Amino acid sequence: MRDAEFFRRWMTAAAAAVEREADRLTELDSPIGDADHGSNLLRGFTAVLATLEAEPTPAPGTVLQLAGRTLISTVGGASGPLYGTLLRRTGKALGESAEVSDAQLREALSEGVGAVAQLGGAAPGDKTMLDALVPGVAALGTSYRAAGSAAEEGALATVPMQARKGRASYLGERSIGHQDPGATSSALLLGALADVAESAGAR
Ligand code: ADP
Ligand code: MG
Repeated sequence: MRDAEFFRRWMTAAAAAVEREADRLTELDSPIGDADHGSNLLRGFTAVLATLEAEPTPAPGTVLQLAGRTLISTVGGASGPLYGTLLRRTGKALGESAEVSDAQLREALSEGVGAVAQLGGAAPGDKTMLDALVPGVAALGTSYRAAGSAAEEGALATVPMQARKGRASYLGERSIGHQDPGATSSALLLGALADVAESAGAR
């Protein structure tokens, strides 16, 4: 079972990964965007860590809902509301219980990813964060590490895609040949989850 501390560690690991990779995320957002994805997420996750320190989060669902709300209010770009929705909806699905199972987390994350698809109107193949989130969350049935790897592969697979949603879609065919920044940060998020699960001695 996973308690609130596990989820705070996940958010802390995600923030560290975003900090480490912020420059690369912004570089990926240069040719097919407006070069702010790294700075957007750095601002957002720095605020998430500050709120998690300031406010009590007794349950896994509380941690993710607070993190999601913070991302929505601090990230200006498209990715703020989308990641905020992912975490809020996942947190809502986890409810108020002090501990959740891996199966509950898997189910809740699927709901969260569904909410992202609904909000942004995108589907896999559109060259967005969903190209990492959908295969990543599907692979959670195998293991946390498999989820991280599938998300990374999903991010790499966005290179030959033409963007059909978000800012990159304005470029049409010229969006082909570049890796999607949001898919790349989604792989970081699921990679952070795998790291935390492994250090907690998971499957
Ligand atoms: P902005 O595009 O507003 O500058 P960011 O640069 O922070 O926001 O985030 C861009 C990323 O957001 C893209 O790489 C893509 O993965 C994701 N994204 C954009 N629009 C959508 C959408 N409609 N559905 C899913 N993801 C999207
Ligand atoms: Mg951008």
